[in-house]
Amino acid sequence: MIQIRINHAWCKGCYICVSVCPRDVLAIDTKSWQKSFHPVYVKQLERCTACRNCELFCPDLAIEVQVEEDTK
Ligand code: SF4
Ligand code: SF4
Repeated sequence: MIQIRINHAWCKGCYICVSVCPRDVLAIDTKSWQKSFHPVYVKQLERCTACRNCELFCPDLAIEVQVEEDTK
């Protein structure tokens, strides 16, 4: 199971994560406004391959991808 955690306290809204995701998993929530920018959200988790591009390219360490093995 893949989990993507966005630390909104550290995110500055550069949207690098959105642009480097090859699977369009992340998106900009244009309906909300926080800290003077539209926040990033996980739009399509089911498309995530856990490539970690978003995590590696985030300049503020604000996004974390976790993969938990399915024990069943
Ligand atoms: S790359 Fe990091 S700082 Fe930039 S929008 Fe994404 S989570 Fe926020
Ligand atoms: S881990 Fe890869 S596929 Fe998943 S959201 Fe990040 S960049 Fe996109």
